Amino acid sequence: MTFDGSILIGARDVRRDTVFRALEAGSGAELPQPFCEATAEDVAAACALAEGASGAFGALPPAKRAAFLDAVALAIEAIGDILIETAMCETGLPRARLEGERGRTTGQLRMFAAEVREGRWLDAVIDTALPERSPPRADLRRMNVALGPVAVFGASNFPLAFSVAGGDTAAAFAAGCPVVVKGHPAHPGTGELVARAIRSAVQGCGLPEGVFSYMPGRTNALGAALVAHPSIKAVGFTGSRSGGLALVEIARQRAEPIPVYAEMSSINPVALMPAALSARAEALGAGFAASLSLGAGQFCTNPGLVIALDGPDLDRFVAAASAALTAAPPQVMLTPGIRAAYEAGVAALDQNAAARRVGPGALFETTAAQFMADTALGAEVFGVASLVVRCADLGEVAHVIRNLEGQLTATLQIDPDDSTAAAPILALLQARAGRVLANGWPTGVEVTHAMVHGGPFPATSDGRTTSVGTLAITRFLRPVCYQDMPDALLPPALQAANPWRIPRRVNGIQGEA
Ligand code: NAP
Repeated sequence: MTFDGSILIGARDVRRDTVFRALEAGSGAELPQPFCEATAEDVAAACALAEGASGAFGALPPAKRAAFLDAVALAIEAIGDILIETAMCETGLPRARLEGERGRTTGQLRMFAAEVREGRWLDAVIDTALPERSPPRADLRRMNVALGPVAVFGASNFPLAFSVAGGDTAAAFAAGCPVVVKGHPAHPGTGELVARAIRSAVQGCGLPEGVFSYMPGRTNALGAALVAHPSIKAVGFTGSRSGGLALVEIARQRAEPIPVYAEMSSINPVALMPAALSARAEALGAGFAASLSLGAGQFCTNPGLVIALDGPDLDRFVAAASAALTAAPPQVMLTPGIRAAYEAGVAALDQNAAARRVGPGALFETTAAQFMADTALGAEVFGVASLVVRCADLGEVAHVIRNLEGQLTATLQIDPDDSTAAAPILALLQARAGRVLANGWPTGVEVTHAMVHGGPFPATSDGRTTSVGTLAITRFLRPVCYQDMPDALLPPALQAANPWRIPRRVNGIQGEA
């Protein structure tokens, strides 16, 4: 399999005159392959096909949709090494990371396949009629149905696992929603290879071509047209706060407003409790630096804020972290734009009189009072940069946390002697974050049933859900209740014979299939 810069509209390859080129991440040089820029006309064609496919795809028996998800995973594996080589060139990420990310992508598709087969996501609930009751109760049957076509914006920092066939696409497919992807312009070759793999799975499974389309491009107008299209019923996005908020606004202004699940910015606070800091300052400093510098700091979960009591133990932590950051080898960033944004963020901290740089790495420190007086100190700097907030006492630690915006993660470093003091701090952290960790580091997000990769605004635009793990499927579903519907007209999930053998709750009692 290879790529030629086409736009993929269902089964068709479409060419346009306006083209763009990817940049080699390491050198910033333009790569030779031109990629066609999708137009509003292409968006309309893809969305029309998606709408046409929506009914049939949404009504597929779980086993068939699961087989499709498995087929997408197989097709991605079948692309071979060209996928890894293309992604290395376009993103600067190392081979081992990308091979791991490919495994995560296919593993996530297979996890959703298993979830679809199991059927719990349908949330089938039956309350049978009570004709003798006064007044009589009707027969009521509820299940989740697919929302309809979903627009997915691939992320720059996960060219596989959060991109064309990433978590948003897998969750939307699992829910029964066709997907139109706006490819990220930083990795168009990688994106097209994966898009072609999805298309081959659509064809191999005999599904309608509108189940998937791929729109490469690098203009805001393209993404805006996609979100504004009336056939699109929900949006999945990972990227900048400004981009996410722009899409939320477009979705809100439509004649029919739609949900936008945007994962945006997070600084992932880490609170170092006193006993832990005293016992393990050097180890904590080294562990923190390793988490911060992983992947050139280009993770939405990287620890951009440390909160702890001022004193010699914190001095030891800062010294160890600074030494580890200074020793870390330089890394290539994903795009010149992301590097420029990182350098601007670090320069802003350098120029802020309230922040003091510690050593040559981009580790800064400030006091609790200064942090709370200047909201700019709490802004995400995407890359290897973090701020240590020195607090006079635990009351000030709590006060700093109370002033934080919503976060994807929050971490507590605790020893047994910290337990009493940690309880109220934990309560404050969980009120502001989607995942709360003890004695770990926030980078590294497991793809599991229990995972939450979400959080209150601005971590995401809708903190009630997650973009990683099987719960992500619920973003693309809505409940429908059928009242007194004849059995033959009911969807199979709610028919008396339970032909799909799914778990259902009948008259309040949960049953197994
Ligand atoms: P981005 O600029 O937000 O772009 C992400 C996607 O959204 C791209 O496909 C982009 O397409 C589209 N887009 C952005 N603004 C738009 C708008 N106003 N209207 C319509 N579409 C829009 O993110 P990025 O390129 O990945 O990185 C830029 C910055 O985002 C980073 O420096 C970092 O601060 C942040 N970021 C955060 C995370 C996270 O997980 N929290 C992840 C990655 C990046 P076009 O460019 O083609 O319009």
